[in-house]
Amino acid sequence: MADDIERLLAELSEAPGPSGFEGGIRSVVRRELAALVDDLETDGIGSLIARLGGAEARPRVMLSAHMDELGLMVRRITSDGYLMFQPLGGWLDQALVNQRWRVLTSRGEVLGVTGIKTVHVMKPDERERVFKRDGLFIDVGARDRADAEERLGIRPGDPVAPLSRFATFAGGELLLGKAWDDRAGVGVLIEVLRRLQVEPGPNTVYGAVTVQEEVGLRGAGTSANRVAPDIGINLESGVAGDYPGISEDEAQERLGRGPAIFLHDSSMLPNLKLRDLVVEVAGDLGVDLQFNVLTGYGQDGAAMQQAYGGAPVINITVPTRYLHSHNSVIHRGDFLGAVTLVTELVRRLDAVAVEELRRFD
Ligand SMILES: [Zn+2]
Repeated sequence: MADDIERLLAELSEAPGPSGFEGGIRSVVRRELAALVDDLETDGIGSLIARLGGAEARPRVMLSAHMDELGLMVRRITSDGYLMFQPLGGWLDQALVNQRWRVLTSRGEVLGVTGIKTVHVMKPDERERVFKRDGLFIDVGARDRADAEERLGIRPGDPVAPLSRFATFAGGELLLGKAWDDRAGVGVLIEVLRRLQVEPGPNTVYGAVTVQEEVGLRGAGTSANRVAPDIGINLESGVAGDYPGISEDEAQERLGRGPAIFLHDSSMLPNLKLRDLVVEVAGDLGVDLQFNVLTGYGQDGAAMQQAYGGAPVINITVPTRYLHSHNSVIHRGDFLGAVTLVTELVRRLDAVAVEELRRFD
């Protein structure tokens, strides 16, 4: 039986919101946050910034999570009515093939599918190769270009979101859906604010749910400039390395072993005093904590860390399998562990603690 957490995560996962076109997910997040916080504003690029006052105005603790997901954009409509597209975000070519999509037109939504030619007519060497994005197209069932434009209302520039239904498996422990990157982090942010509303911390919390992360951390930069955080906690989907074909040197997180922190990714190094505090809090709570040292990746924490003279920042994650695809997997226990960990971490960030974290000897 689905409970409130599962219902929220299902809605967050399924809501459309390709980078730059986050309207669908923004309205879900706005509804959730409006019930929890003192102030809620939308900045000039479309990120939501919530403020929840605690005992003191300072320190300003900024939580961030990005609401955008990978998507596509219509480049042009061919004369016979197929859509050529521009990918938004870091898709693998093979993740684009034979998937269902929602073309978000100004007149409503149109169902589409990315096809490739059938195996029956492929030459042996074609069966071995990856079909590149440049040759891919979306079939929306139009008779020709005029039909796509006039009957379906499709125009160049229209965003396209993946279509993928949420489901659970493994007895409800594993949650399957698109866009856990970063709707898992958005869910953690919402649930942390829900708990802090009941029992606030010794600080003021800003919850920024940012746009356009997947195309270059754009929303996090403007949000951090708006908030001017004293300290930052980014909430992300982590990288699980617990399935065939991926090595422990590529990714160390495992599903079901708790939330994780990134010790290295290509965009950011965490503040080590903040790392130690997270480890201490997790130990006190009995929450299992994992570490991940990644060579690649980029995340909003980097933009927070570099805004406004800089701030100590850490990236806390919900381990995720099969990122950047229509079907990714998280563990419910890891999600709840992240919520518990981050809530207690925020409650410990009083003026003295943050001053110590911001002191470099
Ligand atoms: Zn992400």
